[in-house]
Amino acid sequence: MPALLIDLDGVVYQGEALIPGARKTLQWLREEGIPHLFLTNTSSRPRRQICQRLAGMGIHVDEEEILTPVVAARHWIHNHIDGPVAAFLPDATREDLGDTKLLPEDKESGAACVLVGDLGERWDFATLNRAFRLLGGASQPPLLALGMTRYWRAEDGLRLDVGPFVEALKFASGREPIVLGKPAAQFFWQATELLGAEIEQALMIGDDIVGDVRGAQQAGLKAVQVRTGKFQPKDLVGSIEPDSILDSIAQLPNWLLQNS
Ligand SMILES: [Mg+2]
Repeated sequence: MPALLIDLDGVVYQGEALIPGARKTLQWLREEGIPHLFLTNTSSRPRRQICQRLAGMGIHVDEEEILTPVVAARHWIHNHIDGPVAAFLPDATREDLGDTKLLPEDKESGAACVLVGDLGERWDFATLNRAFRLLGGASQPPLLALGMTRYWRAEDGLRLDVGPFVEALKFASGREPIVLGKPAAQFFWQATELLGAEIEQALMIGDDIVGDVRGAQQAGLKAVQVRTGKFQPKDLVGSIEPDSILDSIAQLPNWLLQNS
């Protein structure tokens, strides 16, 4: 059996609703002792709230079983940065940064790095421009992106995620972002390492043909596309070929039994 990296949004749940069959699949993985980790680009809420949301759906997961870009960023900052971090993150998510020193929100200079996550409706011109000004500071702080997800499916339709805002800042500042999240290979490798698995033995299950499927394949993993969440039939017309395609996570147990 492969070690599994499972995306959450669009694979296990969509909005407040569980994807039909997800609970049964996850229960089966646990009973069979198949190693798995939840790999999500969510930076709009902390792991604690993700666990609470899952518990409300009858799925019990420990915080340690979820890897998010914010947690990856905390490790990266700890190892590379000495000074205050300008965090463009929802207040709720800041708890996952632990004791990371943050730059006050009214400062337009003095950041040791600029961290950009999913600020959602809190993005406006002044906020984006503040990030741009901070990047132009004398110390040339690095631009850290919490994933490069292009969009996600909310209850009212598709919504911009982190990627478009990071691209805007990259374009304006000429700075190449350091990506801590999907589709960066490092993020998949970190998750695989946490599972104690070899990269070639790991399988990503996701609804995002670019962030999940191509990202995982480029990192050396295999990847399964599910036809739930943000999936659209046109995703399969391009050059990206998932190793397999399932209608949903509900089909995963049978597929694993037949293919491993
Ligand atoms: Mg997803």
